[in-house]
Amino acid sequence: MSPRQTKTSKGVEQEQLIEWLEHLKLRTIQTHLDALCERAAKSKMSYREFLYHALEREIEDKEIRRLAMGERLAKFPFERTLQDYDFEAQPGVEQARIRELSQCRWLAHGENILLLGPPGVGKTHLAVGLGREAIKRGHRVSFRSAVNLLSELEQAHQKGELERKLKELSKPSVLIVDELGYLPFAKEASYLFFQLITRRYEKGSVILTSNRAVREWGEVFGDAVVATAILDRVLHHSHVLMIRGESYRLREKRKSGLMQSALTSTITSTTPS
Ligand code: ADP
Ligand code: MG
Repeated sequence: MSPRQTKTSKGVEQEQLIEWLEHLKLRTIQTHLDALCERAAKSKMSYREFLYHALEREIEDKEIRRLAMGERLAKFPFERTLQDYDFEAQPGVEQARIRELSQCRWLAHGENILLLGPPGVGKTHLAVGLGREAIKRGHRVSFRSAVNLLSELEQAHQKGELERKLKELSKPSVLIVDELGYLPFAKEASYLFFQLITRRYEKGSVILTSNRAVREWGEVFGDAVVATAILDRVLHHSHVLMIRGESYRLREKRKSGLMQSALTSTITSTTPS
């Protein structure tokens, strides 16, 4: 007797079904098969409705898993979305412009985004949020702080593996380089960065965040010629957002301070003497 025949037909079907669902990588239907079937039976769905409902769940979950995987690969420093960004708190950022950029048309044309402004205004938050929108649309995104990126390039250069590193960093559709200008680059490092920018020029997009104005980039790169060459390529097809405003964290602190004093004065004025 074959092992198949030792089981009831329902048991065999169930086992085979699970195997097929696994083979087809329909993980949500596989995990929730009993619940999905029970629900269908209870609500007297048609066969077509059941299939629709089960596949809808699978596709929704697949999308969530794909996004999570893309975010892990991107190595974002924190989880932030454009929906989390408080535009009222930062009138220096035009919501309509961010909404337009969230459509990722800039990406299709290999355009760049520069987010410039003082610390705490949400440059990294917006860069991560825009990166997330790109992942949602099926693009590969990679996040690096400028300091880490440069040390990666320098190490690769020292090991004679610069070409391989440049290739690797040219692959993602969007490369986010965060905090350019917090530390000035040595001349050699600036030239490595220049090579990377040249490699990606008009092929892949770059999102750069910096607390330094573009006119100060000569100082950042320690060499006016290299800085001009970098700027030339970065700015050629670019969206520049200058965020002038107060640090969000400081604003929150100040607000809670104000609320504290408002509270104290209310208590004092209503306390009978
Ligand atoms: P920056 O990169 O400009 O120095 P960040 O993006 O790191 O600033 O922002 C600092 C913190 O404040 C982060 O936790 C970020 O999510 C938050 N933040 C900044 N601006 C806003 C805002 N307008 N709405 C919501 N959170 C904000
Ligand atoms: Mg930042």
